[in-house]
Amino acid sequence: MTEQGLWRRYGVQGGKLVRNLVSCPRCGPGFFMADHGNRYTCGKCGYTKFKQ
Ligand SMILES: [Zn+2]
Repeated sequence: MTEQGLWRRYGVQGGKLVRNLVSCPRCGPGFFMADHGNRYTCGKCGYTKFKQ
């Protein structure tokens, strides 16, 4: 899936693994939102949160 490549690209920054995943406020902890550059989107419920 293309989504996995997205995770890999954003998962490593500066040579170390960064766990900067955002949990969905609707689905709760454990349901992480995908990073789409300027926003996060939940793949489960479709909730979108824009970065500040
Ligand atoms: Zn959700």
